[in-house]
Amino acid sequence: MLGTFVEVVSDESSASEIVFSEIKRIEGLLNKYDPQSEISRLNRYGSLAVSPETLYIIEKAKYFWQASSGAFDITVGPLLDLWGFSDKKYRKPTQAEVNRALRLVGSDKIILDKNNNSVKLKLPGMKLDLGAIAKGYAVDCAVKRLRGQGIKNCLINAGGDIYCLGDNSGKPWRVAVQDPRKRGPLGNLKLENVAVATSGDYAQYFIKDKRRYSHIINPKTGYPADSGVTSATAVASDCLTSDALVTIIVVLGKQGAEKLLDQFPDVKTWIIEKERDNA
Ligand code: ADP
Ligand code: MG
Repeated sequence: MLGTFVEVVSDESSASEIVFSEIKRIEGLLNKYDPQSEISRLNRYGSLAVSPETLYIIEKAKYFWQASSGAFDITVGPLLDLWGFSDKKYRKPTQAEVNRALRLVGSDKIILDKNNNSVKLKLPGMKLDLGAIAKGYAVDCAVKRLRGQGIKNCLINAGGDIYCLGDNSGKPWRVAVQDPRKRGPLGNLKLENVAVATSGDYAQYFIKDKRRYSHIINPKTGYPADSGVTSATAVASDCLTSDALVTIIVVLGKQGAEKLLDQFPDVKTWIIEKERDNA
């Protein structure tokens, strides 16, 4: 689901069904690979009256766009297509192609009208991609449903976007963070009632001419992020926030993200940078 695997761990047998059905519902709104989803229809028609939830998540994405000075930008859709990340036919585009796609990028070109729940994309060819935030949001929605059903303990892992509800038979949930360059974990986190997300350049990428190109794009350059961060982990009270922040850290780099992270004093981060000159 959501282009990844979703894992549910709980001693309550009803937990998995609650989580999967909720994630499926969110997927129906936000998955750009489903031609009937709200996002796909918005991308197709350029404007659409959407559900309050879709409007909410686009607003959140715009908030992170502003907070990150443009590093987080859900209008990167045309760039992901150009680099082949949408159909997994990876290629290195020409500078002219990148420049052309960059004209369609910029969350200031998303017009929201809260009075009639409508979203408008200012330029033809614009394409929203919620891949950096949808999983986190879906996990948060699932947690809300679990709580509503009285389920106290559950771990949800949506491809590295995780929520640790309650505990694991009286002990904190243990989440291993993967080493971005080797098989196996870098270390463990012990967590209860918090979200944790990890992003990096090792999950989806291709290598060309000894360079690594990952699916997290720097919206300023139109090229895959090249900040030196190979993996960023953030622990926050909700998964949408941790999901968005780790993507931003990969784009801006450890130093570049410092100022933004100061605005989130409760968020704990763990950032791995590559050794110089290594792909
Ligand atoms: P993962 O899906 O590996 O956990 P992320 O949460 O960082 O990683 O999401 C990466 C996805 O976000 C990309 O596949 C793409 O759909 C989208 N994306 C890429 N670059 C950006 C960006 N600068 N801002 C917002 N979304 C992005
Ligand atoms: Mg993310």
